[in-house]
Amino acid sequence: MYIDCHSHLGDLGDQKAVEFWKKNHRIPDWVAEPYLEAMREVDRAIVLAHWGPLSINSNEVVAYFTRENPKFVPFYNIDPRTTTVIAELDRLVQEMGGKGIKLGPIYQGFKPDNEAYFPVYEKIQTLGLPILWHQGTSFDAREGPLEWANPILLDKVARTFPDLKMIIAHLGFPWVREVIALVRKHPNIYADISGLRLRTWVLYTALVELIQYGGENKIFFGTDYPWFTPAEMRDGLYEAAAFPVGTNLPQLPEQVVEDILHRDTLQILGIE
Ligand SMILES: [Zn+2]
Repeated sequence: MYIDCHSHLGDLGDQKAVEFWKKNHRIPDWVAEPYLEAMREVDRAIVLAHWGPLSINSNEVVAYFTRENPKFVPFYNIDPRTTTVIAELDRLVQEMGGKGIKLGPIYQGFKPDNEAYFPVYEKIQTLGLPILWHQGTSFDAREGPLEWANPILLDKVARTFPDLKMIIAHLGFPWVREVIALVRKHPNIYADISGLRLRTWVLYTALVELIQYGGENKIFFGTDYPWFTPAEMRDGLYEAAAFPVGTNLPQLPEQVVEDILHRDTLQILGIE
């Protein structure tokens, strides 16, 4: 298998696409076509819905797209602070075919280990949905509190909900070592390499440390499309692997790289 575990349909700032959606109730070709073209490279891809006002990445658009194109797997966004969130979770699964949840505390403004949200995690665990967390920094969430973005805050969640599968996006940058500790400690925590296409040093050193501590088999391939295509991200991984060649630095075994590219992420997450 060759699976992209982290993609978005299109550019969040594309207001023209939103207007098109509102008017025609379908996705404009200028969004769908490049996405489908880029994803021809992979067997399956997870499409993540984004929070906030209606965008071309909102729950309803992702539901429409994944219904039309069953190769793609919908992960929906919720706001754990709302009183209707439990009913919303049922609706997202039963009516919209949801296979997972995307959360981004730094964008959404909540502290993930606050026990007030534990009933929400409990419900997600009961529904058998994994959570993909943007738990790391963000350059565009200026108001977002970094102290709520540290992946360490997921330790309590993982301890409380051992059957809740969680993926930490972008290796939790800049808290990559915290993520290494977490994936090693918790059988139910994984991480993705999405978005790290041009961060060769981060990717290389993370993989070296993951191998040394034991955790490289918990790493998923992902792109963060539209920022990078699967082909670009795969090249990024090969670049990281080539980085130490000809030096005394630790080499990255080819098998580790191939395993990341071909990990059966959906099966690991319990999706069909
Ligand atoms: Zn993303």
